[in-house]
Amino acid sequence: MRVLKLGSRGSDVMEIQALLKKIGYNPGPIDSIFGKLTKRALINFQRDNLLIPDGIIGPKTYEKLEPLLLGYDTYILKPGDTLYNLANKYYTTVKKILIANPNLNPINLQVGEKIIIPYGIDIVDTNIGYTYDILERDILGLSKRYPFLEVGIPGKSVLGKNLYYIKFGNGPNKVFYNGAHHALEWITSPLLMKFLENISKAYVNNDTIRGYNINEIYNNSSIYIMPMVNPDGVDLVINGLQRNNPYYYELLRLNDTNRPFSKVWEANIRGVDLNHNYDALWQTYKNLADSLGYNKPGPTRYPGSFPESEPESRTVADFTRDNNFRLVIAYHSQGEVIYWDFQDLASEEAKEIGEKFSLVSGYTLAETYGAASYSGYKDWFIQDFKKPGYTIEVGKGTNPLPITQFDTIYKDNEEVLLLGSII
Ligand SMILES: [Zn+2]
Repeated sequence: MRVLKLGSRGSDVMEIQALLKKIGYNPGPIDSIFGKLTKRALINFQRDNLLIPDGIIGPKTYEKLEPLLLGYDTYILKPGDTLYNLANKYYTTVKKILIANPNLNPINLQVGEKIIIPYGIDIVDTNIGYTYDILERDILGLSKRYPFLEVGIPGKSVLGKNLYYIKFGNGPNKVFYNGAHHALEWITSPLLMKFLENISKAYVNNDTIRGYNINEIYNNSSIYIMPMVNPDGVDLVINGLQRNNPYYYELLRLNDTNRPFSKVWEANIRGVDLNHNYDALWQTYKNLADSLGYNKPGPTRYPGSFPESEPESRTVADFTRDNNFRLVIAYHSQGEVIYWDFQDLASEEAKEIGEKFSLVSGYTLAETYGAASYSGYKDWFIQDFKKPGYTIEVGKGTNPLPITQFDTIYKDNEEVLLLGSII
């Protein structure tokens, strides 16, 4: 973590601002700019934590902030500790501690034993630029807090970032939700992560969400979530082109739009549009793209030199082949539209499910046409597996959608995600 102080800017500043707000300090607007209000909030935090109140995030202050960012602390039991006292000290509950430590015997605590103590705050922030670092921390935090979640890394991006999946549930009905094939459309990553946090919380509390019994979903279904298919692209969009990017000069050359990466970049880090890199009328699309000028790597629509040429799309395709998914949804933005068909191959049932998704989300059910309808993930899934596969375009406006749309997008899609896992 770099040192942050007055004048610093970036997604890491934004994350700290969101945290300070969450734990009761007022950092001013969550705007990724370390201003005076953020400094004052940090000084108050430092005072309360017996740190030097200099308003600068150096190693010592970060050491205190990091467990809060992760949402849990690791604690070594001392003589006289009780879970009740620890829960009070950490502003959490005994129940939360027991869930995070399924093998812990509360009436026979062992001195020296290492335990996980989750804080009383939610982990997934939905008011910040959602970078790969934040995603990674959230996955770690959620998996410690909810050890029944399975986390796996079936592949890596071009720059070597992990392509994570998280699995909720233990049932035979396997579904797959993925987000952020397209870099500008990163708002779909926190959408899936917040959903994961909310169903996990509901599961341990025996709660329902919108009338759906989450325990039943857990027992009957397995929801596989790959929240960020294109982490290299997402970081490029959120934090701009950094000098230490191995593709720095290459990217400058590839972006011939005269517009910043944060406004135009949809592709992976070497300029391939991942959602045109699947083997579903790929050559047809390739010819079309050539004629439209998308004949070389660039910000969008270049389909690569062959299907699954990119490690990200290859990973998603392999993961799909390895699992017998009953249904898949690829999340994109924007348009408030649900696409359900490919070349008339989708079944009547797939259409009916699409109609239900449309009903619960308020989004329009539509068929793709023209160039958009070839070589995408859902096209390939429908073609090769003959099962229900959807592209859902969330939100309305110009990509990247502002994070202020998050709450509406979440509200519109929560029931789709629940329904998709049992239908
Ligand atoms: Zn997209």
